[in-house]
Amino acid sequence: MLNTFASRILAWFDIHGRKHLPWQQDKTPYKVWVSEIMLQQTQVTTVIPYFQRFMQRFPDVQALAAAPQDEVLHHWTGLGYYARARNLHKAAQMIVAEYQGQFPREKEQVMALPGIGRSTAGAVLSLACQQHHAILDGNVKRVLARHAGIDGWPGEKKVESRLWELAEQLTPAHRTADYTQAMMDMGATLCTRSKPNCSDCPLSADCVAFKTGRQADLPTKKPKKTLPVRQTIMLIPKVGSQLLMQQRPPVGLWGGLWGFAEIASVEQLPEWLRCQRLETGKQIWLEPFRHTFSHFHLDIQPLVIELQHISQVIEVQDANSLWYDWRNPSAIGLAAPTTMIVKDLQSMSGQ
Ligand code: SF4
Repeated sequence: MLNTFASRILAWFDIHGRKHLPWQQDKTPYKVWVSEIMLQQTQVTTVIPYFQRFMQRFPDVQALAAAPQDEVLHHWTGLGYYARARNLHKAAQMIVAEYQGQFPREKEQVMALPGIGRSTAGAVLSLACQQHHAILDGNVKRVLARHAGIDGWPGEKKVESRLWELAEQLTPAHRTADYTQAMMDMGATLCTRSKPNCSDCPLSADCVAFKTGRQADLPTKKPKKTLPVRQTIMLIPKVGSQLLMQQRPPVGLWGGLWGFAEIASVEQLPEWLRCQRLETGKQIWLEPFRHTFSHFHLDIQPLVIELQHISQVIEVQDANSLWYDWRNPSAIGLAAPTTMIVKDLQSMSGQ
C-alpha cells in the first residue's frame, strides 16, 4: 500500500493543506528560505508577524546582505536561536558576492551556505524552484517514523539514514512542491506531537503507530540527561529609563546580541564598577530566574545599580557598550533574558 502514500497525501493537501501563508504568495527562493529558517524550532503562528516585518525591512537578498548585523538581530529579537539570523545574514552576503544575488539552484551549492542543511536545501529547491528533492524536518520525521513504525531516536545516525531513505523513496517527482508542503502541514496540524488526529488522517489505513497504538512512543524520544546548572549575576547600571548594555562577542552564547555585563559573584562588583568608572549606586536585587539552553540551565540573578549623575553615563560609552532607553529603544538584537529584565523594570517603573 506504500505506493499510494504520495497520492493520499496530495489528495489530503488539495482539501486541507495551507496555501495562504505569507511566504507562499509570489513565491521566491529568498522568501521560502527566510521562512524555512524562521520555522526551524518555531511555530507558524509565531513566525508570521516576524516574517512580515523582516520582508518589509529586507525585501530581497541584496537588502539583507547590505544591512548591519545589529539590525538583522533586532528583527530576530524574540524568535530565539540567534545563530539562525547570523547565518542567514552571512549566507545573504555570500549569495550577493558569489552568485550575483541569485539564490543558487544546485543542491550542493545551497548546502554550502551557512545555516542550510540537507532538509532546508531540499525544501527551498522543491518549494520555490520546482525541483525534485526530499525533505526531513521534525514534522516529516514524526509522520514517517509513526507511519512506518521506525523505532529509535531520529537524532541517531542510523535512524536518521533510514528516515532519509524512506523520505527519498516516497517523494514523488510530480507535484513535489505540493507534496513537500503537505508533509509539513500533516506534521504540524494532524500528526502532531501529542494527540495526533488519526481518525482524519489519510495514512491511518496502513500506519503502524495507529494500528499498534504506539503514537505516543514514536518517534522515540531523545535519551534524557540532566542538564548542569550555572549561575550568573547580571549587572544593570540604570539612570532613569536608560540601562547600560554591552554587546556579546560575535560567536558563542547570544553571539552579537546585546545584554548586561555578568559577574560570577558579588565580591567582584567593586572591581567591575571601578573598571567601568562608575560610582557605587543604590543596589536593587530583582527576582532571580532560570533560562534554559539545550545544554545547561542558567540561573540569573539581576542586580540593578541605580546611578544619579548623567556625567557617569557619558564616561562609559564605547563601541561595545550603549545606554539603552526603553522609552526610545535602539534597533539592536537583545538576548531573551535581557528583554525579560527590561520589561520587568519597565513595569516596575509604571512606564
Ligand atoms: S494515522 Fe495518526 S499517527 Fe499515523 S500518520 Fe496519521 S496522524 Fe500520524
